[in-house]
Amino acid sequence: MSNAPPDFSHYAFETRAVRAGQARTHEGEHNDPIFTTSSYVFDSAAQAKARFAHEEPGNVYSRFTNPTVRTFEQRLATLEGAEHCVATASGMAAILTTCLALLKAGDHVVASRNLFGSTVNLFVNILSRFGIETTFIPITDPSRDTEAWGKVIRPETRMLFLESPANPLTEIADIQAMADLAHAADCLLVVDNAMCTPALQKPLTFGADIVIHSGTKYLDGQGRCVGGAVVTDSESIRNDVFGVLRTSGPSMSPFNAWVFLKGLETLSLRMQAHSKAALEIAHWLEKQPSIARVYYPGLTSHPQHTLAARQQSAFGGIIAFDVQGDREEAWRVVDATRMLSITANFGDTKTTITHPATTTHGRLTPEQRSEAGIRESLLRISVGLEDIEDIKADLERGLA
Ligand SMILES: *Cc1c(COP(=O)(O)O)cnc(C)c1O
Repeated sequence: MSNAPPDFSHYAFETRAVRAGQARTHEGEHNDPIFTTSSYVFDSAAQAKARFAHEEPGNVYSRFTNPTVRTFEQRLATLEGAEHCVATASGMAAILTTCLALLKAGDHVVASRNLFGSTVNLFVNILSRFGIETTFIPITDPSRDTEAWGKVIRPETRMLFLESPANPLTEIADIQAMADLAHAADCLLVVDNAMCTPALQKPLTFGADIVIHSGTKYLDGQGRCVGGAVVTDSESIRNDVFGVLRTSGPSMSPFNAWVFLKGLETLSLRMQAHSKAALEIAHWLEKQPSIARVYYPGLTSHPQHTLAARQQSAFGGIIAFDVQGDREEAWRVVDATRMLSITANFGDTKTTITHPATTTHGRLTPEQRSEAGIRESLLRISVGLEDIEDIKADLERGLA
């Protein structure tokens, strides 16, 4: 039997990232073990009955609870400064489970226009079939757009959903303003924190009700596992989300939870290193004559630099930039790289490069793309942990 994990709540972020949530077993293991078991045994028929009836806490079946997954949940919850976390099989499973738990037919969602593609798809093509309608609205100008968001909220609006910074143009949402707006209208604010992670930004401290994670990105940080999480301070939201998860089953595997635990241990170090390298590369890109514009919240040229600095402790690893020219010039930069990975993923130790207009945003119509500011000349890089001079040299070849 394992003991309750020691309380690390009064320790610093980096300490909690390494130690929180671990309940050492009678074996005295130093590292977190992986509990690869689908079910659990009971001492007696009476105990089995008590567990199934929720009269006694304890494990029943790994679709609902698993000690390794629970360690990950407790560790991520404390890093976000939250009471609760429900781990899921992927980032998309986290969003789906949240929506299934908190929305019903007839409800309305207001979502940022600048969202991860599959999230848009989920709202537009899947949840719509169950009577949930979504209005998309830009997130780019906090003063104007908070007002714009307010105007599309209806009596049946239940949820506001956004990402900050958004992908790929790194637009920043004013989380506090959006939370105030949501709460004035009796709605919940959901913030997808995949880009920043709690190492750089804690949306709950600005009033968000729910934080979504794609653990696949920086929480793992090394491109190994797909997973996600829903984080909240509200016990009733946690219970609703967990209720859907335990019945419908998009659960995180114990192995993946263990990989994410290892990722969390180095999260702060990695996010600082990604941010430092990205800031330096963003400054360097701004000076290249073949580049028309650089989008990075750490640059003073970013229209929401001040807001980003207020919400985030650093600016993350994602940079977008427009080359002078069109698709041909942009593709030339991609194809001239020898080291950078040509892939749409981000949040890896390996630097990646992608052409959004023909990959992540390829399914949008040209009008939708132009509305979202995604030009044919746009490239996005996720700055990894290689030597910065090697990254620059790889980009320089195509920019020359
Ligand atoms: C990748 C991503 C998701 C989806 O996560 P998966 O783990 O791939 O399901 C959701 N939101 C954002 C911002 C992402 O980058």
